[in-house]
Amino acid sequence: MKNKFSKILLIVCFVSVLLTACSNQEKSKAVDGEVDTKEKTETTTEETEAASNIITDVQERQTFALNTFITVKLFEAPQFSDEDWQRTFEILADIENRMSAHIDTSEISEINKNAGVQPVKVSDDVFNIIKQAKDVAAETNGAFDPTIGALTKLWQIGTDNQHVPSQAEIDQALKKVDYNKLILNEKSYEVFLEEEGMAIDLGGIAKGYSADQVFIYLKSKGVQRAILDFGGNISLIGSKAEDKPWRVGVREPNRAEFKVYASIFASDESFVSSGDYERYFEEDGKLYHHIINPFTGYPTDNGIRGASVVLDSSMQADAYATALIVMGKEKAIDFIQNKGLEAILVYSDMTSFNTFADDRDFKLEK
Ligand code: AMP
Ligand code: MG
Repeated sequence: MKNKFSKILLIVCFVSVLLTACSNQEKSKAVDGEVDTKEKTETTTEETEAASNIITDVQERQTFALNTFITVKLFEAPQFSDEDWQRTFEILADIENRMSAHIDTSEISEINKNAGVQPVKVSDDVFNIIKQAKDVAAETNGAFDPTIGALTKLWQIGTDNQHVPSQAEIDQALKKVDYNKLILNEKSYEVFLEEEGMAIDLGGIAKGYSADQVFIYLKSKGVQRAILDFGGNISLIGSKAEDKPWRVGVREPNRAEFKVYASIFASDESFVSSGDYERYFEEDGKLYHHIINPFTGYPTDNGIRGASVVLDSSMQADAYATALIVMGKEKAIDFIQNKGLEAILVYSDMTSFNTFADDRDFKLEK
């Protein structure tokens, strides 16, 4: 039994780690329109062979969306057709086309272009994700702020233009980050950014939202066992086997190499991680990563390097994981405890804090 669990651990972690490893090249690959699937194909084969000892029917497909590699793996779902796969990826493309701040024709871009000018009517789901993002902003006292766009547009982390902005630019952008000035009209589904220059960026929550949408779709098609890996954010349908959870790995927050830091049991839920190792650049010998402190305008630098949260809602876990990185140790621990979250924080010195229940069987992997 132990061997089987170890195998599954390796499977989940390896895929998760490998896919996260790609994130720094994601942008350029997206621009090229080409995704190098070589590494992933190798993983697939290895995984299929390993999994075949336990589950014989495995289908796996990959795509690149929301600026990340996405792998969907179904176990014992022979009814799931090519059309169903197509629909799965359409769901992702549709979310990206409507919610990306980087796509000029998206609903989010429309809101941003009309900042300080007029409210914009949006579709139900865009409205709802913005509403949820604003709610998390309020819950986290602005550590998570969907109006971070003015700052992320400046830093441009993950693009060819990433650079350290001037202090004057940061000071200016800081005035444009405030979720209280994100006005939602629940009757008309209109969204308004009160000041010109404000911008919504849903990068900290959209992957989780889309994982939830794919999760719902797969379940509606009768899928009972699946692993959804959205660039290291894992959503699990069902369990590894009857009464046997999956074992999911937490990546060590380490930019140089890909190691598993710890692992837990999980089933039918989402396990979402954020970290300063995911997207970053170096300038004048200093590293700058993609999670921005909305109060300073700079990438966070507070001793927390990785945070993972387990919840049913991948969207919520996604937003919380990003927020925890911003909060700093004391506030993050308070938040986790007050909310009763199951979460782990991994610190710069590679020690950690976690609140996983005993039956998670939390294990440090080093
Ligand atoms: P994640 O990988 O989920 O932690 O999200 C990181 C992404 O969220 C970044 O690439 C930005 O698009 C966005 N982001 C950065 N800082 C924040 C913040 N403080 N609040 C909300 N979103 C943020
Ligand atoms: Mg997030």
